[in-house]
Amino acid sequence: MHIHEYQAKTLFSYKHIQIPKGILIDSTAKASSACKALGGDVWVVKAQVHAGGRGKGGGVVLCRSVEEVERACGQLLGSQLITPQTDAKGLPVGQLLIESGQNIKRELYLGLLIDRQTQKITVLASTEGGMDIEKVASETPDKIIKFGIDPLGSLSVQNCTFLAEKLELNAELTKQFNNTLLGLYEIFTQKDVNLIEINPLIVTHQNQLLALDGKIDFDDNALYRHEDIAKLRDISQENEKERLASEYQLNYISLDGTIGCMVNGAGLAMATMDLIEHFGGSPANFLDVGGGTTADRVAKAFELIQTEANVKGILVNIFGGIVRCDLIAQGILQAIETVGLTLPIVVRLEGTNAPEGLDLLSKSKFNIHVESDLTKAAIKIVELTK
Ligand code: GDP
Ligand code: MN
Repeated sequence: MHIHEYQAKTLFSYKHIQIPKGILIDSTAKASSACKALGGDVWVVKAQVHAGGRGKGGGVVLCRSVEEVERACGQLLGSQLITPQTDAKGLPVGQLLIESGQNIKRELYLGLLIDRQTQKITVLASTEGGMDIEKVASETPDKIIKFGIDPLGSLSVQNCTFLAEKLELNAELTKQFNNTLLGLYEIFTQKDVNLIEINPLIVTHQNQLLALDGKIDFDDNALYRHEDIAKLRDISQENEKERLASEYQLNYISLDGTIGCMVNGAGLAMATMDLIEHFGGSPANFLDVGGGTTADRVAKAFELIQTEANVKGILVNIFGGIVRCDLIAQGILQAIETVGLTLPIVVRLEGTNAPEGLDLLSKSKFNIHVESDLTKAAIKIVELTK
């Protein structure tokens, strides 16, 4: 689960990590009093969306007057912000963080993640922070310092000082850096975090280290034990279809292709997508309907797939291990009726009572192509959607 920058910064401040002064607003009418409360004469208006690259997408605006702040708020609030990290539709902007503008001497990068290769929580740090960190990582990877933390020990002050030295920080900044990194590490380990990042971590002309941005991604599987974090969820930032799917315990991910997929089992779903690609088609979604599939969930699944504008046909691939294929077939027929499905459908059933299931489908009044062989089913749906 992602959270917003302002929420990440609140968590930072609990650990005494320094952040710029800021006020969250949800209407332009509140902009001028926010500026007044912050003081100064330079402000930054920051769109709160669950994606990075906002600077490049016009979602971070440096303003030198209250009027400029109001203009930026008017343009951003209620809009869809498109950044290099969103899809073409972008993400809705419902809240803005207004911050006191900072003068930046240096932009550093500091993050923590789990490195699966070394099986360690790993600190990533760089002197080349800012909006082009991805480019730095791919073109000059030696500029990214990696430090794996001993899983049986902890992150020590010595470890932090070692990294501060690599970042060419003086004694005063090193103190602030150690505090920042230890704070990040505490949040990481206490809250079951996948990734925590400050980019940029800035050095100001007043010799102060400030977290100018904040990003945290939490492990969904551990949210049940962090009520305070789970409360931070903002469903307006989530893909509507994926959210609906999760309500029905369907594992759903939207993709760009034309062939809708309905499969039971994540592994089988991936194999199905591979086969579609292999025969020249492209999947419109990943969908795992799970083990104990019911007619109701099959209907929901069809409904979801049908709302993808690009779908031209559907491939159903069910392996009846726990479920009986004839029950699935009944569910499919019922669902087609309820949803009013008109797209071409290829159904591949295998496993318990597969012949009975296929028989039910092929005798129905609907235009369903049945197959017991997955390869043939994949070839057929590609052909039907070409
Ligand atoms: P991101 O693009 O989504 O990662 O958003 P950031 O919060 O990192 O902001 C993007 C860029 O805006 C930063 O890398 C800074 O260069 C710039 N920026 C943000 N806040 C300030 C500020 O207070 N003063 C100045 N001069 N630049 C800022
Ligand atoms: Mn950033």
